[in-house]
Amino acid sequence: MTKNSTPAAFKADTVLTHTGRKPREFHGFVNPPVVHASTVLFPNTATMETGGQPYVYGRRGTPTTEALETALTEIEGAAGTKLATSGLNAIALACLSCLKSGDHVLIADTSYGPTRHFADTVLPKYNIAVEYYDPALAGDVKTLFKANTAAVFTEAPGSLTFEMQDIPAIAQAARSIGATVLMDNTWASPLYCKPLDLGVDLSIQAGTKYIVGHSDVMLGTISASEKAWPALDALHGAMGIHIAPDDVYLALRGLRTLSVRLERHMKNTLEVIDWLKTREEVAAIHYPALETDPGHELWKRDFSGASGLFAFDFKAGTSTTQSNAFFDSLTLFGLGYSWGGFESLAIPVKLKGNRSATTYDVDLKSARLHIGLEDPQDLIKDLAQALDAAFSS
Ligand SMILES: *Cc1c(COP(=O)(O)O)cnc(C)c1O
Repeated sequence: MTKNSTPAAFKADTVLTHTGRKPREFHGFVNPPVVHASTVLFPNTATMETGGQPYVYGRRGTPTTEALETALTEIEGAAGTKLATSGLNAIALACLSCLKSGDHVLIADTSYGPTRHFADTVLPKYNIAVEYYDPALAGDVKTLFKANTAAVFTEAPGSLTFEMQDIPAIAQAARSIGATVLMDNTWASPLYCKPLDLGVDLSIQAGTKYIVGHSDVMLGTISASEKAWPALDALHGAMGIHIAPDDVYLALRGLRTLSVRLERHMKNTLEVIDWLKTREEVAAIHYPALETDPGHELWKRDFSGASGLFAFDFKAGTSTTQSNAFFDSLTLFGLGYSWGGFESLAIPVKLKGNRSATTYDVDLKSARLHIGLEDPQDLIKDLAQALDAAFSS
């Protein structure tokens, strides 16, 4: 919740291993306890009246939730962190914490689809005007600013199409008019991109993905700058958000291995992509870690690594039947939503309804792949037989 258990001088992997743990406070046990709690007892009325003890009510926090919040606050370099029931819930809470009736919010056109759904269906009910911007605008996003622009919502790289954005330039423009900057940083995780260092106020994670890392928990996190923290803390309390301790514990457990998992996800992904490039059925590959990617320079400047999620376009003229045959022929890759777990996944990319400030080729067939921790040579064999099956006839 608050800073700071490990001196900032330690490097990222050391912090990941030691942050959010206080073994001496729990009889020397390495991990914090999973505290199932509603009522917390007070020794007397005086303590009750002053709230003079670390925990007062289950909903307001336990040693378990505090451990994960503390860890993320330290990793993100934030003023504080709040947990949410899902990544989408974190996005909604972060937006509501910095917007009020009469405000205008700018949202990246390449944002995660359900972010748009929230913005389009909920925010207008509270008289908040939503406008989408082309992520390529960088600092020129300021040309869209209005007198009532209160927040800019970024996501890099963008969902499904992986466009990078110049986050520092956007953040600088937004801050010059006092607007709050939000970033959905799920793709890179707080290990490979530090939004707050780039000028972001509210750094959002779908913890469901790489932090949990095992496809078994829904969780969101929001880490805030000094400026954004008081409003986030107040809204989170007022809304009564509480995450079950077993889920919080699993997220903290996942966090410990984030660095080694991400390193392998990236290595496997580069190996699979190297092979995909040799296939004539595959056109463009969208992954900012590739030198050929239009976002590569921004990625190199602002990120320290890449995760296991990318997309590729099938060659021009690919039919829906062929693209569906590819997905249906995969055996190691599962067909399913979400990503960030240990296993490989594939989905057909559907952009319809998810872009309004930029254009896209409606006939293009694309695949989004998550490269898991399997042996990449086995994944390549699976992709090869699926491409062969889909394009043989
Ligand atoms: C999955 C995802 C989310 C939402 O996370 P949930 O936990 O599924 O609600 C938000 N942003 C991005 C970029 C995602 O990929």
